[in-house]
Amino acid sequence: MSVTICESEREGLLTIDLGAVVENYQWLRAQLKGATECSAVVKADAYGLGVAQVAPALFAAGCRSFFVATQREGEALRSVLPAEATIYLLTGVRPGCERDCAQACLIPVLVTTEQLQRWCELTLGLGGDASLAAPAALKVDSGMTRLGMGAEEFTELLAQESLLRSANLQLILSHLACADEAGHAQNLEQLSAFTGMVGQLRQVCPNVRASLANSAGICLGDEFHFDLVRPGSALYGVNPTPVQPNPMRPVASLHLPVLQLRQLSRDSAVGYGATQTAVAGSWLAVVRGGYADGLLRAQSGRGWGMAIAGNERIRVPMLGRVSMDTTVFDVSGLSDEQRAKLVLIEVLGQAITVDDMGEAAGTIGYEILTSLGHRYCRQYR
Ligand SMILES: *Cc1c(COP(=O)(O)O)cnc(C)c1O
Repeated sequence: MSVTICESEREGLLTIDLGAVVENYQWLRAQLKGATECSAVVKADAYGLGVAQVAPALFAAGCRSFFVATQREGEALRSVLPAEATIYLLTGVRPGCERDCAQACLIPVLVTTEQLQRWCELTLGLGGDASLAAPAALKVDSGMTRLGMGAEEFTELLAQESLLRSANLQLILSHLACADEAGHAQNLEQLSAFTGMVGQLRQVCPNVRASLANSAGICLGDEFHFDLVRPGSALYGVNPTPVQPNPMRPVASLHLPVLQLRQLSRDSAVGYGATQTAVAGSWLAVVRGGYADGLLRAQSGRGWGMAIAGNERIRVPMLGRVSMDTTVFDVSGLSDEQRAKLVLIEVLGQAITVDDMGEAAGTIGYEILTSLGHRYCRQYR
């Protein structure tokens, strides 16, 4: 607890529970059988929570493989992790950056034959063996139709055995589009397409490892696990089994200071656009925290918080539009005694999960986390 109350009351306090991240990692790993490895996806600054704190905590818990999106993220991660950590770049490597990438010991996820050829030409011998390129990964499209090599190009690539033998492929991966809908037919279709592609590649590269599952994919069952799973969101408390109770522990909590508490003497429209009216006698609390801090404007009139009055927590609705720096809550439901103690309103925590806030904003917990912004006072536990 290095943060003073005064600071948190001024800036808003974002608390990140690294113990909960580690427990979530351990829960996910416990879902796996045998030699399946549990990696961690820490792209976008560990989903907004701070990769420099989150990744070393996961390394200490035994995690050895990490995924980020970009080369810059990979370089930053390299500097905070021991050399034994394997780091993959999910969006690959830009032409011209291959040697820097290999020298920083970053493994790019490649998606075209041309990228594979360039990687081989430019990094041949860099891994020590003169006939081998630096380690790389290949992403195939098993049905999501986003980043990944399509089936036709993959079939053509399989015929280029000498390229594949020198490419030093460590991992073949693909991504599920509908893993958070356990009954969706596309999950089994993608599983079947991916299994076929893995089998074909192994005829040329017998030791290549395979990876398909993200957080929700882990919860679809063993057959989706292959050699390595790639959870991200569940590590940070997002529910990987959306229609069932959340097995993950919440990681982020957010407390916003009350800047002004006032009682209205007449019926008044609140905030930009005068979208909602509070009746005479209502008590309003204006907090420091708005859409520039990740309280998405789409929550306007739908979101809520928990007013903290001593040991009591009282649910309070947002009122009117969320502004850039401030948000208004209707705290009329508090007693005078409770209002006298009101200093902070919790908008994320045990009672309001990132999934709840996402739902109120018509989005997903992922977007809530990655939107949190940099104006809060951050505290790691
Ligand atoms: C972001 C990402 C993941 C992690 O997904 P979650 O749903 O957050 O667990 C895994 N694999 C790829 C390719 C990704 O882009």
